[in-house]
Amino acid sequence: MTDIDQHWQVVIIGAGPAGATCAFLLAKSGKKVLLVDRATFPRAKVCGSCLSHKTIEALQRAGLSERADLTDLLDAGAPGKNIDTPAIKNIKLCTAGGATTLPLRTGRSVSRELLDWAIVKRAQAAGAVFIPACSASVLPSENADYRTVTLTIGSDALKTVRADCAVIADGINGQSLAQLSGEEGRRLAPVIARGSRIGAGTVIDGREVSPTLYQNGTIYMAVHKSGYVGIVRLEDEKIDLGAAFDLDFVRACGSPQAAARKILESCNLEYPEQLDSGHWLGTAPFTRKRKTLGARRLFVIGDAASYGEPFTGEGIGWAINSALLAVPHILAATVKWEDRLVSLWQKDHKQHLAGGQQTSRQLGALLRTSELTNRLIDSVLVKIPGLSQILSTQPEGSIRR
Ligand SMILES: Cc1cc2nc3c(=O)[nH]c(=O)nc-3n(C[C@H](O)[C@H](O)[C@H](O)COP(=O)(O)OP(=O)(O)OC[C@H]3O[C@@H](n4cnc5c(N)ncnc54)[C@H](O)[C@@H]3O)c2cc1C
Repeated sequence: MTDIDQHWQVVIIGAGPAGATCAFLLAKSGKKVLLVDRATFPRAKVCGSCLSHKTIEALQRAGLSERADLTDLLDAGAPGKNIDTPAIKNIKLCTAGGATTLPLRTGRSVSRELLDWAIVKRAQAAGAVFIPACSASVLPSENADYRTVTLTIGSDALKTVRADCAVIADGINGQSLAQLSGEEGRRLAPVIARGSRIGAGTVIDGREVSPTLYQNGTIYMAVHKSGYVGIVRLEDEKIDLGAAFDLDFVRACGSPQAAARKILESCNLEYPEQLDSGHWLGTAPFTRKRKTLGARRLFVIGDAASYGEPFTGEGIGWAINSALLAVPHILAATVKWEDRLVSLWQKDHKQHLAGGQQTSRQLGALLRTSELTNRLIDSVLVKIPGLSQILSTQPEGSIRR
């Protein structure tokens, strides 16, 4: 293993799209980067696994892919396998009241196991050092010249590394800032929205599920006042189910599987029995933000910074864009730390990402109104001009590299 008892220019905690893209961009700029993740990679993640056209554009802007079908990027995760991912062209919105299919600008569906691993591989190829199965924690700021991060690697004893700058990309379930205390800890604590939903999902082998039931290229979205369930086909005939539920609803149903079945069936969609034997994962309440997105020699990016609702399927794009936006400030921090870098990062986040997340929150709130949900298709969604654009929209604006 690489000697990790040393000083890094940047230590990045979390190798999802935000952290791995950030590692790729910084390593490409010649920085000495350590990327760690507590999971063993490749790893699954609760997600609808849909990449909107805007997310594909963000991957292209980051220099991770040159192709709309992403085959060049995915080849890094599965060399020589010529992975073919479904092109997503429609979303079928279903409620108890009916269903309608809306066109989407072409996106892709790809498992997070493959996508995230491919980005990590590209970061490694650019020169970043990656350590999986490594749980990291940031220590309170004691020295003005560096940040200290503790690492627990597998069953090894705790190691300590120093960095000019630490980047927190540990997602919704991350706890890597939990050791911070005092004013720094208070300002960086996540603020979870009241009544936030939780996420749950699984990926199964879809070969046994009739291809006419859930077709390639369509997102099936079942909407209920207590949550929504998305189903889509992925590469290698896998099927992804990603869902957002009210916590009380899952408790009342007894399990996420039962909750997903209830919502699908209430919308006249079939619950494939194979889902019961899938490996289900869950998230903490996901709608959240932080008072501040950084501190001395520390930046928070991706879901760890803030997250809205998954309904619009934009989280991966937000995560990649957050890396693109934060990198110039992180690069500056490796040369000379200035407190204003945190304010600059926050300003960029607010300008380019907060708006899209706010819209997703509002849409999430709208979907909870039972009256609206029941009349959703006829009365509301199809009458919103350009809904299909909203469903695949990333915040516009110039994203710097
Ligand atoms: C139900 C649901 C459906 C969704 N559907 C879609 C969709 O279809 N399309 C879309 O674009 N987005 C979707 N999203 C959102 C998307 O999954 C996230 O926005 C995206 O994964 C955020 O990327 P990230 O890199 O910030 O965090 P993550 O992908 O969550 O990565 C964080 C990483 O940090 C690691 N980590 C955590 N703590 C530590 C620690 N202490 N030390 C080391 N590593 C640590 C974790 O293991 C993880 O690998 C969905 C979300 C949910 C909940």
